[in-house]
Amino acid sequence: MTLFEKIVARQIPADIVYEDDRTLAFRDIAPQAPVHLLVIPKRPIRSLAAAQDEDTELMGHLLGVCRKVAAEEGLGAGYRVVTNIGEDGGQSVDHLHFHVLGKRRMTWPPG
Ligand code: AMP
Repeated sequence: MTLFEKIVARQIPADIVYEDDRTLAFRDIAPQAPVHLLVIPKRPIRSLAAAQDEDTELMGHLLGVCRKVAAEEGLGAGYRVVTNIGEDGGQSVDHLHFHVLGKRRMTWPPG
């Protein structure tokens, strides 16, 4: 079971800001910006690279949740949505997640 599946199952605590039948959003435990949320599917998909064509609608739903939680957090000045994939992508938890970062000016390119 991935760490994030344990959060979905309420086996470990998280500061949950949004939930629906397919999705959970919670605050990152080590925030990299004043607002740093993680939006995940409840179903354990390893990463974006492991998603299937049948998951396309779910991917769109997850991005819609990113938009909604960003609006609820007052990120009208802008924000960043990131998903890290695999070792070179800097992924540390093997359960697909979108980072939603805001309330500070982002730099580009990312490290
Ligand atoms: P990534 O490095 O893209 O795989 O992102 C994983 C993220 O999960 C990191 O930003 C971590 O800070 C975050 N994280 C790890 N454990 C927890 C936890 N128990 N609750 C909330 N966020 C976590």
